[in-house]
Amino acid sequence: MTTSVLWLRRDLRLSDHPALLAAAESSEQVLPLFVLDDVLLRPAGAARTAFLYRCLRELTARTGGALRVVRGRPEEVLPGIAQQVGAVGVHISSDHGPYGRSRDAAVGGALGEVPLVATGSPYAVAPGTLTRSDGQPYQVYSPFFRAWQQRGAAPPARTPDIPRWTDGDVSTDAVPDDPDLGAVELPEAGEEAARARWQSFGQTDVDDYADLRSRPDADRSSQLSVYLKYGCLHPRTVLADLGSGPGADAYRREIVFRDFYADVLWHRPESARHEVQPKMAAYPYDGGAVAEQRYTAWVQGRTGYPFVDAGMRQLSSQAWMHNRVRMVVASFLTKDLHLHWRRGATYFMSGLRDGDLASNVHGWQWVAGTGTDPAPYFRVFNPVRQGRDHDPNGDYIRRWVPELRDLPGPEVHEPWLLPGGPPPGYPAPIVDHAQERAEALRRYAALAG
Ligand SMILES: Cc1cc2nc3c(=O)[nH]c(=O)nc-3n(C[C@H](O)[C@H](O)[C@H](O)COP(=O)(O)OP(=O)(O)OC[C@H]3O[C@@H](n4cnc5c(N)ncnc54)[C@H](O)[C@@H]3O)c2cc1C
Repeated sequence: MTTSVLWLRRDLRLSDHPALLAAAESSEQVLPLFVLDDVLLRPAGAARTAFLYRCLRELTARTGGALRVVRGRPEEVLPGIAQQVGAVGVHISSDHGPYGRSRDAAVGGALGEVPLVATGSPYAVAPGTLTRSDGQPYQVYSPFFRAWQQRGAAPPARTPDIPRWTDGDVSTDAVPDDPDLGAVELPEAGEEAARARWQSFGQTDVDDYADLRSRPDADRSSQLSVYLKYGCLHPRTVLADLGSGPGADAYRREIVFRDFYADVLWHRPESARHEVQPKMAAYPYDGGAVAEQRYTAWVQGRTGYPFVDAGMRQLSSQAWMHNRVRMVVASFLTKDLHLHWRRGATYFMSGLRDGDLASNVHGWQWVAGTGTDPAPYFRVFNPVRQGRDHDPNGDYIRRWVPELRDLPGPEVHEPWLLPGGPPPGYPAPIVDHAQERAEALRRYAALAG
């Protein structure tokens, strides 16, 4: 019997899986394999790690126990297994991040005669596919989106009828126990849960998405990000199901944002750590004891700005935060507290269940004014106005900040204006937004000029 290895990474599903199809069509049996790679596990916090392990347990069951889970460096693990089972090929979905690309090059070299075959990617349109008419990468989202629309996503891949799984007599490490999650509650992991989540969102909430996607109080976004992150669901599947209308159009634009940021990272791998706009690297961020105290207050959701604090506490409780609030807390860290966007990005990567390098660093760089879009360095989110606009009655704040639960309606947005000051246990604002906004603009103008 001929055997292919299916090396799973960010594609933890069995349907709409071009690499699985390629493996099944090129050999008589398929050995599914996941490598626990410390390089990738290290920056992930407990929530992301636990979600991954749960996905692996689901896949173990769905492959009849065939999934092999092996700890080690992929370039050391793969050649031995390929040799042991006499693999005719090792199949992967391509990875476009800086580490993934160098890792796959090393594995390809280490495999020698056994081909490493990449089919498909985690994106609707793979990074590097779309370029401007002058051959240069897109820097701005809107023209990227137009080019993306002209190309369109491929239809979902056919699922092989009866995948012939084998464990190849390869020994497996047990999927580790979940790390301690504290009070964090995660959604159900795996492909079936992903499909159920998509179906429930697609059938009901997508129609209102254009109106409600910016309203954390309504809580009506799809929450698919963690499933897309681990490939429990492919965006192609989602796009193929998506109907038409304002809600579907708005949703498609967000899915394409994910493609855009992956494309930017593919063209500029150094942007994972460095400013897309080099002159912004000289921004004079704050340091020292006061800056550290402010960072701690931000992490703990104790800045005294209720909308910011609600977001940070949602992150601690759910390992997830609404997109609008992500923008506001990121703006607050970089422009009100004058702390480096990389600190926030690192904290998000360990705290978010959906932590994804491309979406995260470029989300942060966009807010910090160092990213692809040249405009927003002078856009400083006002944490009170954002709260009033996107959580008008204050329900989101009251949900996440118990100290403010007894404040009625919009009063909750500025508790320092109450006659007795903020309620017991809730801090006064740690900085004055108007002053810090002016200070941020002064520092940016010095750079831009
Ligand atoms: C500072 C900052 C950091 C972020 N970090 C991450 C991250 O680590 N991982 C991550 O997946 N998203 C990140 N985002 C983007 C966005 O906030 C999340 O994708 C979204 O909140 C996830 O919730 P949802 O699935 O309900 O989104 P929905 O509103 O239902 O959107 C559907 C899908 O579209 C994609 N999407 C939506 N908005 C964006 C966006 N702005 N950029 C890229 N893709 C988007 C996501 O895959 C999302 O699941 C970040 C945004 C900011 C401002």
